[in-house]
Amino acid sequence: MKIILLGAPGAGKGSQAKLMVDTYQIPQISTGDLLRTAKAAGTPLGLEAQRYMDAGLLVPDEVVIGLVRERLAQPDCQGGFILDGFPRTLPQAEALARITDIDRVLSIEVAPEVIIGRLTSRRSCQKCGQVYNLVSYPPRTAGVCDSCGGELYLRDDDREETIRKRFETYEAQTRPLIQHYRDQGLLLTVQGGDTVEETFSRARPLLDACR
Ligand code: AMP
Repeated sequence: MKIILLGAPGAGKGSQAKLMVDTYQIPQISTGDLLRTAKAAGTPLGLEAQRYMDAGLLVPDEVVIGLVRERLAQPDCQGGFILDGFPRTLPQAEALARITDIDRVLSIEVAPEVIIGRLTSRRSCQKCGQVYNLVSYPPRTAGVCDSCGGELYLRDDDREETIRKRFETYEAQTRPLIQHYRDQGLLLTVQGGDTVEETFSRARPLLDACR
């Protein structure tokens, strides 16, 4: 099963992807995570990406497309994958179509005011990347990851001014992909905005139907 997850920043793509990994036993490919790993490692690519990420802008297409091409060539992707946060522009979608076919695109729809509240209360684990929410999904011990004991932090790009910019970027560059995939007959839509489990219970029958 080859799936793309579409949705605004904070719509819950990462959380849905994690449940899909467990359910369908296929890997999650998050370009945000790949870029944050490169940034943390201080590689030249990571340092270049950091400038864009911290400003709420998209990293240049050729950088991200190269990362995804390499990742999709790995053996664990041969039985399918979940693309989380890619493609985000039309040129990325066109490049992806040259790399692989896709079975379905799942668009997660959430009202902007819900998203802003979510992102400012989002905390991520430094070590394993697990995502928490101080309101809806707090860790058992404040500031500490339940899964690995790592330290929780507020992502630089989850600060309020960056969030606003990420939204503008989404509207201008990524939202047009919804129509692009609708035109190709690949689009599935699910209402998000409540709990991760509730959203997944609506998404699952749609996804099961395309296995
Ligand atoms: P995410 O974790 O998916 O919200 O991504 C965090 C940041 O990484 C984004 O705000 C972008 O700066 C960058 N990024 C992630 N995926 C892409 C992509 N497909 N194209 C360009 N930039 C990306």
